[in-house]
Amino acid sequence: MFTTRPFAHRSAMYQFRDDASGLNARIALYGALNRPGLGGIRILPYASDAEADADAERLAFAMARKAAALNLPYCGGKTVLRGDPSRIKSPALWKALGEAINSLKGVYIGGEDVNMRLADIATLSRETRHVVGTPDGCGNPAPYTALGVFRAMKASALHRYGSTVLRDRRVLIQGAGSVGMALAELLHGEGAVLSICDIDPRSAHALAERYAARVIDPARAIATPCEIFCPCALGPVITADTVNSITADIIVGAANNQLAETSLGRHLQARGITYVPDYLANAGGLLAGAGEHKARRGLVAFDPAAVKTEINRMFDLVAGYLKQAETLDLPVIDVCETFVSNRLEDGIAASEAAAEKSSSLVPQGPHGWLPL
Ligand code: NAD
Repeated sequence: MFTTRPFAHRSAMYQFRDDASGLNARIALYGALNRPGLGGIRILPYASDAEADADAERLAFAMARKAAALNLPYCGGKTVLRGDPSRIKSPALWKALGEAINSLKGVYIGGEDVNMRLADIATLSRETRHVVGTPDGCGNPAPYTALGVFRAMKASALHRYGSTVLRDRRVLIQGAGSVGMALAELLHGEGAVLSICDIDPRSAHALAERYAARVIDPARAIATPCEIFCPCALGPVITADTVNSITADIIVGAANNQLAETSLGRHLQARGITYVPDYLANAGGLLAGAGEHKARRGLVAFDPAAVKTEINRMFDLVAGYLKQAETLDLPVIDVCETFVSNRLEDGIAASEAAAEKSSSLVPQGPHGWLPL
């Protein structure tokens, strides 16, 4: 079954149900819809379809912001599968999901996100070519995402402490998953003093043993004293209830949608906490996926060194936002939001102008609705 509807101005939501394979998926696109949406595939046991839809919408918004912040030619895209990741994965599921993605004719390009593994992407890539993070391309994007967070952290340290050196800095990583682990490796190599928490104690202890980290109780993570708090689990972690218990100087991490509300950026600023917006800090994975997508269209091999050079430039990007926010005496998130909103509007205006001249790239929905 296939249904489609807009969920906001300039958006499209495609829902796919296939009882035989157990597929219960939605693909959300947001922004300049004449550009493809590039974003990961997330699997979680959502309590309801409505909850899964809402997450897909939120994540597509975040992906649009990320692409705009990095000036990449993509709209926001995300796939969300509802189900227990330890039970639903099967050849039939990947086949059905591949068919769903193929039905959109390249307007959505999938990749890895929470509970998708490299082996899953490899299997899915046999069903659809509209997927990145393949073993022949960038592979698991987490190390690229971690490198971007690391560069953003160094830019924040320079801004806050006058030095990029992270040796002896007390860094708390929330979430010992793919990104948390790769980031811990970089920080351990730099001599940072690490703490780790995870709701799965085995993951926390595995990271702790490898990188000499202290394991802390996940329920107390946000209030645990540290200099740099690094959310790498699931957002939102910064809420009206938790914001006053944060003791860190800097918050910079990979998790999407870390702030329950954008207005909390002002609260963090008032408390003297430097917060790097999540969609900026975690853009390394998108840069890697975009690198693979570009290489494939140009029929050339994926170039990891070129992508790492791009990610290293995130230092200057983040440093620029931090400087501007300081000059304007505004939270960094507000400066980013203004910049990104303007860029999104420019992209949407250009897409509308292009749509007047040619037919839309996005497949037309039912009832004659054209999601542009
Ligand atoms: P992952 O699933 O590999 O790891 C997440 C970890 O967080 C798991 O070990 C899980 O047990 C733990 N966790 C969940 N809830 C927690 C909680 N309340 N407290 C402590 N730990 C908790 O995911 P990942 O790929 O490492 O991604 C981490 C975050 O970064 C996600 O929000 C993801 O959307 C975001 N992100 C990831 C990438 C990427 O390249 N993988 C790119 C951009 C953004």
